[in-house]
Amino acid sequence: MQAVFRRAPNRDIDLDPENWDEFRAEAHALLDLVISDLQSVRQRPVWQPAPQYVRSAFAKPLPRKGRGLATVVDEIAKNVIPYATGNRHPRFMGWVHGAGTAYGMLAEMVSGALNVNCGGRDHIGLVAERQITRWMAEALGYPDDASGIFVTGSSMANFSAVVVAKCRAVGHSTRFDGLLKAGHVLTAYASEEVHGCIAQAMELAGIGSSNLRLIRTTRGGGLDVARLEQTLEADRARGCRPFILVGTAGTVNTGAIDPLAELAALAKREHLWFHVDGAIGALAAFDADLRLRLAGIEASDSVALDFHKWGHVPYDAGFLLVRDAVAHKQAFAQPAAYLRRAERGLAGGGDWPCDFGPDLSRGFRALKTWVTLSVLGTERIGASISRNCRQARIMAALVQDNPMFELKAPVPLNIVCFGLRGRGRDALNREIVVRAQLSGECVPSLTDIDGETVIRCAIVNHRTTRRDVEAVVASLSHIANQLAAEMATFV
Ligand SMILES: *Cc1c(COP(=O)(O)O)cnc(C)c1O
Repeated sequence: MQAVFRRAPNRDIDLDPENWDEFRAEAHALLDLVISDLQSVRQRPVWQPAPQYVRSAFAKPLPRKGRGLATVVDEIAKNVIPYATGNRHPRFMGWVHGAGTAYGMLAEMVSGALNVNCGGRDHIGLVAERQITRWMAEALGYPDDASGIFVTGSSMANFSAVVVAKCRAVGHSTRFDGLLKAGHVLTAYASEEVHGCIAQAMELAGIGSSNLRLIRTTRGGGLDVARLEQTLEADRARGCRPFILVGTAGTVNTGAIDPLAELAALAKREHLWFHVDGAIGALAAFDADLRLRLAGIEASDSVALDFHKWGHVPYDAGFLLVRDAVAHKQAFAQPAAYLRRAERGLAGGGDWPCDFGPDLSRGFRALKTWVTLSVLGTERIGASISRNCRQARIMAALVQDNPMFELKAPVPLNIVCFGLRGRGRDALNREIVVRAQLSGECVPSLTDIDGETVIRCAIVNHRTTRRDVEAVVASLSHIANQLAAEMATFV
């Protein structure tokens, strides 16, 4: 009897496993593999480039016939897992990358299994997302009825904030009419240390990045408010229409925090939308002491933040919080009939995320965030953020004590910029960073400070210990000495 219902392989049947027991066994083995891999991440190189034969495995023609799960799992183990970015490793300090957690990984598995579409409709995905919005409103001192939305990252969150601010400034009819009808040149304000995505947001929003005024910073790296006031006055005199002020909580180069409370007060006086780019620093609010350094963020109109950075939620998990939910919705909501809402049934459920951003279909980013925050609690995440800041200060002290190196910028948060002593060492600093990355011992990256290319270590990893910080400085110092010796033999 049973044989009658046996499925012929690969023909006219659904895409589920032909044998669920086999699938289960393979899936359990793969789960064991990734757990072991995560558990032993310290024992392997921080990063290694994928060799040519591995890259060739991803240069094949379209697979008209499937090869089956077992073969593909084997390839995942051999060709994918060993060649990831390296940001899980405690000695990865390049750019600003979160480390992820085992809990986030599990949540991703559940999201994949449920395959929910969080663009809208009445299901638990949206309920979970609203919970995260209320949690972040609580953490940052926003009102309960603030709106929030998951996006890919802070680039998209910052862009969305610029769009909301633009509609608020010139009326949401600008969505239909375009900017010419607004009759003024819209201008935006941020410090010269602001992330490049703000200029890009101005471009994408059709306002133009030349209308973003980059204000000089003070010695500490924060925006110089007096200069901002002068620039605003000059722009108004010229007939421009200032519409948004962007403050940064943790700049990408040095981790500097703009004087947010002063900026909030000024924005109120000047009738500007006050947006905070909190991609790096907003989650520092989870630590009571660091929260004090963010004073003023609660008076902003919107905050962009990244759970995938210091929150260690697996990529991607950017988030935008907006004080005025109506203004937020007016910038994005669409009247399409196929998205019509109902009082009851699956098309109900109140506000839909597709009304609050440019995405329609969206994954379940809220689940991995909800799982991470629920399992760990914000205090523990805050403590790991605070530990990273302490480690950055330790690193700064080690650099200052090192005969080869000097600090190139203050260390207000978790980012340490340093390099060989003296100016004009750009090429050598670059070489040290590349050699360090290729050694597999540690991953720093580079940036420019005061026109110099310098080594940059951002400590954004809950696995990093003081020993790791010491080891990274020792590695870099060793490479610098080697380089000096090589140069001496060439002279
Ligand atoms: C990382 C970062 C961004 C961009 O965020 P993504 O999540 O990479 O899109 C914006 N601003 C700052 C300060 C950042 O550090």
